[in-house]
Formats: sequence, structure tokens, C-alpha cells
Amino acid sequence: MFADLHLHTNFSDGTFSPEELVEHAARFGFAALALTDHDSVEGCARMTVACDAAGIEFIPGTELTAELGDTELHLLGYFLDTHNEKLLTEISKFQIVRQNRIHEMVAAINKLGVPLTAETVFALANCKSPGRPHVARALVKAGLVANLDEAFERFLKKGRPAWVPKAKMSALEGMELIHQAGGLAVMAHPGLNRTDEIIPALVDAGMDGIECFHTKHSTATSERYLQIAEKYNLLVTGGSDCHGFSKGKPLIGTVKLPYEYVEKMKAKVAERKTVESLNR
Ligand code: AMP
Ligand code: ZN
Ligand code: FE
Ligand code: FE
Repeated sequence: MFADLHLHTNFSDGTFSPEELVEHAARFGFAALALTDHDSVEGCARMTVACDAAGIEFIPGTELTAELGDTELHLLGYFLDTHNEKLLTEISKFQIVRQNRIHEMVAAINKLGVPLTAETVFALANCKSPGRPHVARALVKAGLVANLDEAFERFLKKGRPAWVPKAKMSALEGMELIHQAGGLAVMAHPGLNRTDEIIPALVDAGMDGIECFHTKHSTATSERYLQIAEKYNLLVTGGSDCHGFSKGKPLIGTVKLPYEYVEKMKAKVAERKTVESLNR
């Protein structure tokens, strides 16, 4: 039995609807899936229904962009109460940050003489959590660049003229937000973000786990983070980070997390609930 715990839909910058994502997952025989759209839990309701119909266990989640000092990291939240008021209020603030940033990126692109409109980006994104991939896809669709790579290379990559930094949540607040919504806080793809130095501080602040298995982690990288997980007694997670066709080929199926790791996550959630009820 296997799980994929890092997936995006068209409720953020993926291209699959929840139903399409589950259809793809079912082909690979996954026993469990988690949805981790950027700054959103909106797709979770439809994932629940689609997974139920396919006989797949569903774990509601999200992916937050956070920072600790100058270090950017992505925080995954799992087993969230998707109706938690504070969670919804906070992520809606970051959705507005994302929407404002689209206007800023488009203005910068216009300054270079490229006639993209924010309306076409929002129409294409058709979600509350738009991001750079939507700008890139709108540029391709309008025939203003040849492909997504050109869009990022010319305009959107860090340091390029239309790159706009994104206001981020503090990692400690992000973890607290996830915890108060009943969830587990996990550091996403540590192999991509050069975040090793901050792991001890995050562990001290209550981080629950680390994403050891990811499409972009080599076997050696996964091995390294498994050792780190062991050292700090962290949960181990993994997922494909599939964005549908947003970045070429769908990645679902490239990472198959053994289900025993999901069981350990569930045990920690259950343990925390027990402690909370005893403290009440
Ligand atoms: P944002 O959250 O708006 O900053 O956008 C981040 C998303 O853009 C992530 O899903 C990245 O994987 C994607 N992305 C970043 N750089 C590139 C690139 N060079 N080509 C394609 N996608 C990228
Ligand atoms: Zn993404
Ligand atoms: Fe990420
Ligand atoms: Fe992701």
C-alpha cells in the first residue's frame, strides 16, 4: 500500500481538477492521497467525495510559503480541520497577497512592452490562489512567449524583471496555525530549499515531520533526510508534488510513500487528540 502526500489541483497552480487527480491516482493504485494546494484547502471537499467514490483514503492538507529569518521554506499541513476559522482567515490573507502580486507581475511585464492583462491571468487561474505558473501559462496562451520555460527565464524567475517577492508567513506562526487546526506541520522538499540549518529550531518549535521522499530528491538526498528524521524523531512523509500539466508531464506515480508512514502520522494525530481531551 502506497500514498502520495504532495499534490496540487486547479484550486492553486495545478491543472487537474480534484476528480481528474483522483482518476490518475486510482490508475496507480494509491491507497491514500493528500491534497496540498498552495494557501488553500478549498479543493479538499471535492477530493473527499472523489476519493470516497474511488475507495482511496483522503488526507486534507495545504502548502504554506513561510520563512524563518532569511530562509524560505514550504510548510505542509496534514489532517487539517478544513473548517477551522483561524486557518481559513489566515490563508485568505495570503490569497489576497497572491492576487495583488499578479497585478504587480503583470505591470512589470507591461513595462517591458509585453501586452499581457491581469484579467487574462485571473481568468486562466480561475482560483483564489493564483501564482507565477498562471502568469506563465497566460503568456504562452496569448502567444507572447513560446513556452513556460521562456516565461520563467525572461520574466518570472527570482531576479528577473517581473519577479515579485511574496509576503510570507513566519514559520513559527505557520506551524502554530496548522497545529491549532488539528494538523501536523511538515517541512516540504528540504532538498530543494537549503533549509537544513533551520531544522533544529523548527523541531524545537514543534515541527512534526519532514518530506524525505520527493520527485526532485535523489536517492542519496532522501537517505540523508531519513537520517535527519530519525535523529530528531520526526515523521517521514513523501509525495510527487504533481501539478498536472503545469510543468510538463504529470508527476503523480513518481513517488510512492509506503503506507506505514501514514499510519505513524495518524497515530500522532490521535495521540495529540487524546492529550487535548485529557487537558480539557
Ligand atoms: P509562486 O508560488 O507564485 O511563487 O510560484 C511557485 C510555483 O512556480 C511553484 O509551483 C514552482 O515549482 C513554479 N516554478 C518556479 N520556477 C519555475 C520554473 N523555472 N519553471 C516552471 N515552474 C516554476
Ligand atoms: Zn505549485
Ligand atoms: Fe513547494
Ligand atoms: Fe508543492
